[in-house]
Amino acid sequence: MPELPEVEVTRRGVAPHLEGRVVAGVTLRHSGLRWPFPQGLGELLRGQRIRTTGRRGKYLLIGFDHGTLIVHLGMSGHLRILPAGTPAEKHDHFDLIVDGQVMRMTDPRRFGAVLWHAKEDGLVDEHLLLRGLGVEPLGEAFSAGLLYRMTRRRSAPIKQVLLAGDIVVGVGNIYASESLFKAGINPRTPAHRIGLARYEKLAAAIRETLAAAIEKGGSTLRDFMAADGQPGYFQQTYFVYDRTGEPCRICGAPVRAIKQGQRSTFYCPNCQK
Ligand SMILES: [Zn+2]
Repeated sequence: MPELPEVEVTRRGVAPHLEGRVVAGVTLRHSGLRWPFPQGLGELLRGQRIRTTGRRGKYLLIGFDHGTLIVHLGMSGHLRILPAGTPAEKHDHFDLIVDGQVMRMTDPRRFGAVLWHAKEDGLVDEHLLLRGLGVEPLGEAFSAGLLYRMTRRRSAPIKQVLLAGDIVVGVGNIYASESLFKAGINPRTPAHRIGLARYEKLAAAIRETLAAAIEKGGSTLRDFMAADGQPGYFQQTYFVYDRTGEPCRICGAPVRAIKQGQRSTFYCPNCQK
């Protein structure tokens, strides 16, 4: 599943092909993804200039003067930039046609989304899908103090509090496991038992982990966006994620896996207390 770093790398990949350009049209090859495509999307966008390509959590926000196109990649979606006229394949459900190229969305499982938020409906941050989101982990609002303050009454395990996304977005299963490892915090620790000093380590670890993943993705950006390249998400080296039974890279103890709220959590019982 695309996580925040993949979405950010995607944003950086498509941005130079979109910003400042005028939409020639859209092609829809299905009635919708997770939700139906907006009615009259082609008429809404044709002839309109793309002003911005932003991101909020895992939502890409393509900004126009009259509203915002909200794109979510779901479980299996990805975007590529291709020459206009490139024949579509089975799971290519949506094209945004811009200046002789298309931004093509492929989504085999159709859990993704393409939605329209009109300017007259207010700020896009107030959209139903966006307004409950926590702060951006790489933004200025994210801090150890925020984590500390917002967890004083939360006894749930820290891993699940991170995954909930209402304090900070984008710390999905991989990055929660990795960040907790780097901070030396056991994923089962009740969030309200963690003090400010340990949250300082955790906030730094979250920022570092996500920034490193984005940088890694950036270095593979060319393949990632290539017309004929495999759009698969970039491979990374993890400390604990998906390494059950393998030796911890720091102490050599076998990495352990547990289930927390249906999701696997990976940690080192020796390095994380
Ligand atoms: Zn260890």
